[in-house]
Amino acid sequence: MVEIKTPGEIEAIRAAGKVVAGVLATARACAAPGVTLTELDSAAREVLANAGATSPFLHYKPKFAPVPYPAVICTSVNDAALHGIPGDYRLEPGDLLSVDAGATLDGWVADAAISFTIGPPAADDARLIETAADALRAGIAATVPGARIGDISAAVGLVGRAGGYGISTDLGGHGVGRSMHEDPHIPNRGKPGRGMRLVPGLVIAIEPWFMAGGNDDCYQDDDGWTIRTGDGSRAAHVEHTVAVTGDGPVILTALRRTQGGVVRRGRPAAVGGSQRESEREQREPGDR
Ligand code: MG
Repeated sequence: MVEIKTPGEIEAIRAAGKVVAGVLATARACAAPGVTLTELDSAAREVLANAGATSPFLHYKPKFAPVPYPAVICTSVNDAALHGIPGDYRLEPGDLLSVDAGATLDGWVADAAISFTIGPPAADDARLIETAADALRAGIAATVPGARIGDISAAVGLVGRAGGYGISTDLGGHGVGRSMHEDPHIPNRGKPGRGMRLVPGLVIAIEPWFMAGGNDDCYQDDDGWTIRTGDGSRAAHVEHTVAVTGDGPVILTALRRTQGGVVRRGRPAAVGGSQRESEREQREPGDR
């Protein structure tokens, strides 16, 4: 069932989304050579606790998972695309890290992800991350009343395919708000004009993830959670929680308030990508 949120409920999801943005900013700031993924998870737990929020990831156990999820963020390195469990792996220069985070605040849930490299990105990684960010931007731009879910899928998929990347339809975007995964499902490729029509009050997580090798195959690791590329190539994943409104799409997981895809304080909305180390503190999680 697809639930439509009231303006007040969307504001509540935005409050949770600000916490998510803070978690991602912290993870990005902490990620450096020698740092373990568990240390990133600990830093994320502190941000959630300080905000009075909890994690919708922790102890989550969907049907496909043999064990409840043990952490508050997903940390997927290199050929891991999604759902990487933070462990004692120490980040190395050149690693491509995707961090996915959620927050529950006052009963409302938001969900977002960023991808970046540890240190300066290799050219291939920069292009992969930037293409995922472009796809997210295209998907958000398609999130307007009267359009259909297929228009979002098509917009995301076209950008990924133009980049030559593999796209799995097994895992994609989803409704979000009262819980982490609600209807509708939003595949990362599809045909325009198909699926449910978008109406104001629909809140969805749009989350392109692309595989550099160009193959669409992926597999679940022995840990029961981590999704890896079938060909061993690298993957990038970016995500925002977005509300459909009469004024256009509103990103709810940005640190700064955005409306119609444009930040109100005269700054373009940014949705993902790599960046220089020196700019790290000043920029939005997911900024390019
Ligand atoms: Mg999600």
